[in-house]
Amino acid sequence: MTQGEVIIVDMKDLLSAQKRIHGVAINTPFIPSPFMSQFSNQEVLMKMETMQPIGAFKLRGALSAVAALPDGTTGVTCCSTGNHGRGVAYAAKSRGLRAVVCMSELVPQAKIDGIKALGAEVRIIGTSQDDAMQESHRLCAAEGLANISPFDDAHVIAGQGTIGLEMLRKRPDLSTILVPLSGGGLAAGVATAAKTINPNITVIGISMDRGAAMYHSLRAGHPVEVAEHASLADSLGGGIGQNNQLSFAMCRDLLDDTILVTEDEIRHAMQVLFFEDRIVAEGASAVGHAAMLSGKLDHVKGPIGTIITGRNLDMPTFAQIMAGNDVHLGDLFVKGTPYVT
Ligand SMILES: *Cc1c(COP(=O)(O)O)cnc(C)c1O
Repeated sequence: MTQGEVIIVDMKDLLSAQKRIHGVAINTPFIPSPFMSQFSNQEVLMKMETMQPIGAFKLRGALSAVAALPDGTTGVTCCSTGNHGRGVAYAAKSRGLRAVVCMSELVPQAKIDGIKALGAEVRIIGTSQDDAMQESHRLCAAEGLANISPFDDAHVIAGQGTIGLEMLRKRPDLSTILVPLSGGGLAAGVATAAKTINPNITVIGISMDRGAAMYHSLRAGHPVEVAEHASLADSLGGGIGQNNQLSFAMCRDLLDDTILVTEDEIRHAMQVLFFEDRIVAEGASAVGHAAMLSGKLDHVKGPIGTIITGRNLDMPTFAQIMAGNDVHLGDLFVKGTPYVT
C-alpha cells in the first residue's frame, strides 16, 4: 500500500479488503434496467447496493477499515452524512467496539434513527460536514477513539472498490461505469478496480450541482471549499477536506469525467427508478439515471453500469416526490411534477 512517501491503493488492497468484508457485506445483484436500456439505446445495468444490510454500500468501506484496526482499539468515531455512520456503527458493533458518529443538522432523521438503532452514539454538530469532521477529530484526541474517514482512508477506498470487482466479474464487457460522487472514496475505489482490469473502461463521477466539492476541486486543481446546501442527494453533501490525502488525487488521476445534475433532474430520476425500475432509492443513488435521462451522457458507450448506492431516505419526503407534490428541505424547494409513464 505504501510506495516511498506516497500511499496508494491498488488491486492487492482491493483483494484483501474483499476478504475482510466477505460474509458480512453482500455481493449485491447487478441487474438490467429494461426501461433505461430502451431509453438510452444501450444496455444499462444497476448495481444494487440498496440491498446491503445497512441499505447502502458504505458498509464495505467501514467493515474494511474496522477490521484493519489494531487489537486494543477501544472505540471508533467518524463524521458522516448518514450512511458511513451507519456502516461504522454496524462494523463496530460486530467487533464489540464503541462508536460515536458526528453529523451535521442537514442529515435526515431516518439516517440518525438508523445509526442509533445499531447502538452507536450520535452527535449533531453545526450545519456542515466540516463541523462534524472537526468534532470527530476532537473526539479522537480527547477520548482515544480511532477516526475512520468516510472517503479519505485507504482501507475505506479499498472496501468501496470491491463493488467494481464484482461488477466486472459479472460483466467483463462493461464500457462505462457511472459513480455517484461526493468525497470520492467510492469513485476512487471503483475506478481502481475498473482501470486495473480494463484500462479502456470509462468511469464518470456524478454529483448534484448544489455544493459539488469534488467536481469544483478537480477543476481548480486542488481541494476547494463549497457552500453546503440541502439536497435530494443529501448523501453527496460535504467537502473533501482541505488536507485531502488520497481521494482527490485518485479521482483526478482515474476519473474520465465528472458531471453535475440538478435537483429537478434528481427528482425525476427518483421517480423513474420507482415507477419504471420499481426501486426505492435515495437521491444520491439516482444521479446516474438523472445524467442519462437529461441527455448529458448521450455520447457514452454501453454496456453502462450505474451504482444504486443506497436507500436510506426519509419516507415522507419520498412519498411526496412520488405523489408529484412540492418538496421543501431547508433552503431547497423542488417543484412537484406527477410522473407520467
Ligand atoms: C457516501 C455516498 C455516496 C458517495 O460516496 P463518496 O465515497 O463520498 O464519493 C453516494 N451515495 C450514497 C448513498 C452514499 O452514502
